Amino acid sequence: MVSRNLSVSVIIAFIFAITVSILLYVLPPTVLTFLPATAIQVIRGSLLIVALILLFEKLLNIQLLNKILLGLFLGLLAGIAFQSHISEVKPVGTAFLRLIQMIVVPLVLASLIVGTASLGDPKKLGRIGIKTFTFYLTTTAVAITIGLLLANVFRPGSGIDPQVQAQLMQNYQGLATEKISRVGGGAGVMETLLNIIPTNPADALSNARMLQIIFFAIFTGIALTVVPKEKAQPVIKFFDGFNEAMLQIVHMAIKLAPYGVFALIADAVGSFGLAIIFTLFKYTVVTTAGLVLLTFIYPIFAKIFAGFSPWQYLKAIRPAQVIAFSTSSSSATLPVSMEVAEENLGVSNNIASFVLPLGATVNMDGTALYQGVASVFIAQVYGIHLGITDQLTIVLMATLASIGTAAAPGVGLLMLVMILKQVGIPLEGIALILSVDRLLDMFRTTVNVSSDLTASVVVAATEKQLTPPEAVKL
Ligand code: ASP
Repeated sequence: MVSRNLSVSVIIAFIFAITVSILLYVLPPTVLTFLPATAIQVIRGSLLIVALILLFEKLLNIQLLNKILLGLFLGLLAGIAFQSHISEVKPVGTAFLRLIQMIVVPLVLASLIVGTASLGDPKKLGRIGIKTFTFYLTTTAVAITIGLLLANVFRPGSGIDPQVQAQLMQNYQGLATEKISRVGGGAGVMETLLNIIPTNPADALSNARMLQIIFFAIFTGIALTVVPKEKAQPVIKFFDGFNEAMLQIVHMAIKLAPYGVFALIADAVGSFGLAIIFTLFKYTVVTTAGLVLLTFIYPIFAKIFAGFSPWQYLKAIRPAQVIAFSTSSSSATLPVSMEVAEENLGVSNNIASFVLPLGATVNMDGTALYQGVASVFIAQVYGIHLGITDQLTIVLMATLASIGTAAAPGVGLLMLVMILKQVGIPLEGIALILSVDRLLDMFRTTVNVSSDLTASVVVAATEKQLTPPEAVKL
């Protein structure tokens, strides 16, 4: 697939950049005493990125999606090979992450106002809302039930080596206490519901309070359908143009995804090291297996409701899955999910702009499954028997906890603390699972995003607002 008129100089530059970079990573510092340590770090990190740029832009003539997947794979390799040293490339990942995060709030606001206004009828919106919530609540409950079943059948927490347990408790006690202290008393149901209404939309926007933004945008959209046309039209046109501009930024940002994904994955893998999996092998495998299983359930929905072939469906949603995996944040992935829903799946703008932002906030199937496994795991380690009532409480709590919590990295763990509290499992037990949490966060966020996208397809199909394109575009 190498382009034919490739100049030799590019190949030479690539080989030079990659070789020098790798040498600077692997040679012991004693050999390189003529260079200050910081200079070595800057040079090897920059050369690695230069090599990647040459590889992706000049040497490989492949689709963007394949470049992103390759970035993921190379990031994994670099993380394993260079371990924590690879954190030098992190700024590239952070820049990419910030770029997509930058668009989240303006994109949700503009597209939801236009989407609601173009829907025209508040009744339609109500129907879409009911379908969306039904999908979200049902799949979350199913996900957590699968998690509980797996944990009860495979018992990842029984027979854990007492030495490993003591070591984990000792190493992660401090972090666990810090996490536990971050979970407040928790707002009551009524307060959580009331909080959805913003008292100041500017505050909601500046603090990225997603449910409040959704509320404000929907009301503005509905109001625009009621006010006289000559007044509404310029406003709608403005937000429509603004929305287009935001989507254009997504288009531009996604071109940087191969590099961003590489850097984020390399840094993540480099910092936790894959060896950590072996200390909690059974727990990690049971949780990951459950999450992977869930990922394969969504294409069935897409097949039944919209006739997508499972393979075609998975391919279409892959860009969003990869971004979710590397950022561990459903909300940062939102711009890409919206683009994927509209471009690759053919979901109408008004459905995508409602279902996806809502899903990023309230729908976390992967997180729910993980909470099921984690709570049973901790209980098993402590020798606490969880009866059916306790497990039902976990189902209920996990489903409720996912509503109103921002979708950011590590949030699932904080929600877990609330669940443990409710069923009386010692909170400090989270110290046991902290070491692998970052890794599991990657998997569960991928599932969370897949579920949101599937909801958008199901709702759009039943509303006759789905026009799948001939080919996957992104
Ligand atoms: N990181 C997840 C998300 O953004 C939430 C979690 O499980 O921690 O969807």
